[in-house]
Amino acid sequence: MKIIDAHIHFKPSPGFDRLAQEAGHINSAAHLQETFDKLDIRHAVIMGNTGLDETPLCPPHTSYCIGLDSSHFSQSVLENDMSLLESHLRCPECVGIKLYPGYNRHYITEPFYHPLYDLAAQYRKPVAIHTGATANAGAHLKYCHPLLVDEVAADFPNTTFVLCHYGNPWVTDAAAVLDKNKNVCADLSGILDGGRHDIDAYEKANSGYMEHLRTWIAYPCAFDRLMYGTDWPLVHMADYIDFVSRLIPHQHWEDVFYHNADRIYGLHLETR
Ligand SMILES: [Zn+2]
Repeated sequence: MKIIDAHIHFKPSPGFDRLAQEAGHINSAAHLQETFDKLDIRHAVIMGNTGLDETPLCPPHTSYCIGLDSSHFSQSVLENDMSLLESHLRCPECVGIKLYPGYNRHYITEPFYHPLYDLAAQYRKPVAIHTGATANAGAHLKYCHPLLVDEVAADFPNTTFVLCHYGNPWVTDAAAVLDKNKNVCADLSGILDGGRHDIDAYEKANSGYMEHLRTWIAYPCAFDRLMYGTDWPLVHMADYIDFVSRLIPHQHWEDVFYHNADRIYGLHLETR
C-alpha cells in the first residue's frame, strides 16, 4: 500500500539522533530514504522546528510545514515577521504552517495569530496545530486542548486546520471539533511513541484504549479528513503502520494512508 506520512520531524541534532535510535532508526536522510523504499512511503511532510529565518532540511520525497517551535516563537516574531512567513508560503516545498501551543505558552485564539490564519487561507495551505499530550513536562497542556481549534475554525472558515495527534488523549473533544467544522482535518501521528512496540501485545494489553480510539476516530465520519502520520523519529515506522491499520476500517485505508494528505497538503503526487 502506498503511503504518505503526513507528520515527521527531521533535523540533524543529538536529541533527534537519540530518539531515532530508541525507535530502531537512524536520524539520517539516507536511512529515511531506505525506510521509505522498504515501506512504500511515497512522501512525508516535515513539521519544521527551525523558526522563520531558516528553511528546514528537506530530503528527497519530503515537503515541510514552516514551524515555530518554542525555541523560535514569540509574539513579536509573528507581529514583525509576517513577510518572512509569506516567503515560505510562496515556496512549493512549504505545504503549510505548524504551530506548537503547549510548548509555546499562548492560546491559538490570541488575536496576534489572526493574520497568520488569513495568510494560510490566502495561500490555501493548512495550519497544523499540536493538540494533546506533550513530549516534555515543561509544556502547559491548557494551551493545546483540541477544543481551542473549534473557535479558530469557526472564525476562519476559509482556513484549513489540522489537529495533530487527534488531540490524544482528548479524542472525544477532537471528534466533536472534526464533526462540527468541515475545515478541520486531523493526523494520527504520535498517539504511540517511545521506541519499538509489538503491536499485537500492545493491543492485548490496551484493548479498552484501542477500542476507545476506534470509537472516537469513527464518530465524526470524517475518514476523508484523516491523515496517517507517525511523528518520526519518535516511533518505528513499520510498527506505526501496523498500529494505525488497526484503528481505521479497511475500506478507508487508501484515503487515510495516502489520498487525504495528498489533497489536504496540496502535494499532487499523482500529477507530478
Ligand atoms: Zn510532531
